[in-house]
Amino acid sequence: MDIKNNIKEFKNKISGKSCKLVAVSKTKPVSLLAEAYHEGVRIFGENKVQELADKYEKLPKDIEWHMIGHLQRNKVKYIAPFVALIHSVDSLKLLNEVNKQAKKNNRVIDCLLQMHIAAEETKFGLSEEELLELISSEEVGEMKNIRIVGLMGMATFTDNKEQIRREFRGLKKLFDKVSRQNTPQNVIIKELSMGMSGDYEIAIEEGSTLIRVGSAIFGERG
Ligand SMILES: *Cc1c(COP(=O)(O)O)cnc(C)c1O
Repeated sequence: MDIKNNIKEFKNKISGKSCKLVAVSKTKPVSLLAEAYHEGVRIFGENKVQELADKYEKLPKDIEWHMIGHLQRNKVKYIAPFVALIHSVDSLKLLNEVNKQAKKNNRVIDCLLQMHIAAEETKFGLSEEELLELISSEEVGEMKNIRIVGLMGMATFTDNKEQIRREFRGLKKLFDKVSRQNTPQNVIIKELSMGMSGDYEIAIEEGSTLIRVGSAIFGERG
């Protein structure tokens, strides 16, 4: 894998757009992350708490670490001191725990709410109804150590590009709707995390602000 060239290409693809690249480095060794860092990448995404914490220890401190995978409540404490953005918040209970651990660390942690947009039932995420309830709840409004800054979604794993586009478009529509709503001070809907190696082009066309790209940069995972 020519990481240097891949990153250059992605930089070209998003230049001039209000879209940022999250380099998804899960399962990849620190040496490859260091190579990407050398090419100017400053946002890395991981999906396992232990791996995220280990890599944080070993790499430069100006990296923004994003947690993109399913997060268990009992593990929030390990990433709360440093995580920049959690893409995968999908319950009030988890939000409560993030708020609690952020407070212990004297921080405000930015979170995205993960929406269920795929046809598969196995993927995590909130329904529109659950989202609307969550962002208008008084309890969330009182959480001083979190900020909800946007939405995240994963499209169905399919070759059907029209289906993927439809799912991303639906998420963007919801994003536009909630970003216009009156919400508590700590709910500022501005980021839309959608698009991976197989579907980032569609995601960018449909209004993504954060693409999460792994294999197209670092190669297939073993
Ligand atoms: C692994 C992963 C990605 C990146 O997947 P690629 O297909 O390798 O780009 C993006 N988002 C989430 C939530 C992931 O778990």
